[in-house]
Amino acid sequence: MEKVYHGIPVSPGIVWGEALVYDPGVINIPRFKIKNPKEEYKRVQSAIDITKEELVLLYKKTLENFGKKQAGIFDVHLMLLEDETIFVELKRRIYEELLNAESILYDIAQRYAKDIKLTGNAFIEERTADIIDVIDRIIRNLLEQKRPDLDNIKKPCILLSLDLPPSETARLHPDKIRAIVLERGSTTSHVAILARSLKIPTIVGVANLFNSYTGIIKGAAVDSISGTLYINPSSDTIIKLRQKKIQLSRRLHQYEKRIISYPSQTQDGRRISVLANIELPNEVDDNVKHLSAGVGLYRTEYLFLNKHTPPTEEEQYNEYLYVAKTLNPLPVTLRTIDIGGDKLASYTNFIKEQNPQLGCRAVRFCLAHKDFFKTQLRAMLRAATNGNIKIMFPMISSVDELRDVKKIMEEVKEDLSQQKVSFNKNPEIGTMIEIPSAVLISEELARECDFFSIGTNDLLQYSLAVDRNNENIAHLYEPAHPAILRMLKMTVLSAKNANIPCSICGEMASDPLFTEFLIGLGLNSLSMSSVSIPQIRALITKINYAEASEFSERLLKCSSSKEVRSMLNERIRTKYKNIISIA
Ligand code: PEP
Ligand code: MG
Repeated sequence: MEKVYHGIPVSPGIVWGEALVYDPGVINIPRFKIKNPKEEYKRVQSAIDITKEELVLLYKKTLENFGKKQAGIFDVHLMLLEDETIFVELKRRIYEELLNAESILYDIAQRYAKDIKLTGNAFIEERTADIIDVIDRIIRNLLEQKRPDLDNIKKPCILLSLDLPPSETARLHPDKIRAIVLERGSTTSHVAILARSLKIPTIVGVANLFNSYTGIIKGAAVDSISGTLYINPSSDTIIKLRQKKIQLSRRLHQYEKRIISYPSQTQDGRRISVLANIELPNEVDDNVKHLSAGVGLYRTEYLFLNKHTPPTEEEQYNEYLYVAKTLNPLPVTLRTIDIGGDKLASYTNFIKEQNPQLGCRAVRFCLAHKDFFKTQLRAMLRAATNGNIKIMFPMISSVDELRDVKKIMEEVKEDLSQQKVSFNKNPEIGTMIEIPSAVLISEELARECDFFSIGTNDLLQYSLAVDRNNENIAHLYEPAHPAILRMLKMTVLSAKNANIPCSICGEMASDPLFTEFLIGLGLNSLSMSSVSIPQIRALITKINYAEASEFSERLLKCSSSKEVRSMLNERIRTKYKNIISIA
């Protein structure tokens, strides 16, 4: 019998075939009294040594197959093995309670797992997941029970799992993993971002999946355009999916052919720049080079995660330079680090916050850690002597804050001049508009910078008071909310009055439902994940700017999200069905 599950599509594609239920968890942990604590601790130490060897080997293998970034996770795990806190507690309890080591380690891991649930912070969740991951390896070595290795997968398969431990996520290989379906995770989770970079079709947040299956499932199908998983798909489903896949690849092919040969403009000749959002430098592949008008958002914080020390100025400089040179003369917008909130690095002495999304994040973090910030700005300003680099600040909430970051940038320029280091004295400086206060003072902000980029992901979170990572209230995370549409309008108008360009780089830019509205508002630059570019560019060629402006005005008069959605759906049905019916 065919069974259908729904989740959040995070990386598009359609595949079917055999699925493997990946279960890295340890199920039977023996609990017994020991007689000789000294011997027991010796046993732990040898398991730790084996774990170390295992991690060093994994580091080397991952470095060889995937590169330095992905291998970095094993550096973090090796560092955790050096962390005294866990082992001091372990040793004390072995001696005091005369309990076997694996049961104590299991207790510690359980406690971490419980604590992270209480924080509700996606990044602390990830850091803690690293600790649990390492403890799991030690326990397995104590029990001489190796974790099933994703490297040992012989036949390409669809991977189903509750979640993926960070160290496994780092080694996902598109040749072996045809698709991923997870019970946990969110659009912005680490696994989702990597899956998108690796172009592995992925669905996350599929409820009640993992406990229902084990081992190999002979028949499964994933449609990660609509976010549907089929177990034992019927022949009708496979026929439908095959048609959809053929249609999709034909259409993508057409789009690509068409968009390479046509300029990105509306029917009545308004040029629209479609730019790419990237997280890692190696994402500037042919797709980005040929299909986009450059990089509208480079989330540089990904260079800082999964490491036990921050990247040096030289490392950063080389990464930025590589992207700028590869895309030259296309523009590359480097966003200064947006760390904090749900993205934290272990080396930043992060303090637990009650509301991390409202806490020391992005420029707030940078203003509190000036040396850290200055190192990044030095690397950016130096790299900006090549190619076409712009620099953008995230989470600006006031004019004072923008002035403060600009002042630090001037200090950095002064240092570089004194040291006779060559750098770009005048790169374009942009402000991300992603906090409601920034929208309300966008007139003033526009006078103090060279461009705006609207971050709708955060703008939604902060305007609607809906945590962007909380799946329980995901239904309230509504881009079609009239308040959001009106804030976009306000921002675009402020930019226009100040005569500066305004772009949009949140997920809303890649949703075809909103393309006409955004263009009608006057936005002529949209930045999105590279997989979305062909479809959006094809859609743009069908839009008439004059009609879009009139449509946007009508949409802005709606008083509820339902009305907005119904107008948008109707518009798609009547005008753009061919382009986006595929979803
Ligand atoms: C946004 O908030 O819309 C954005 C583009 O930034 P990020 O998703 O990295 O917070
Ligand atoms: Mg943001």
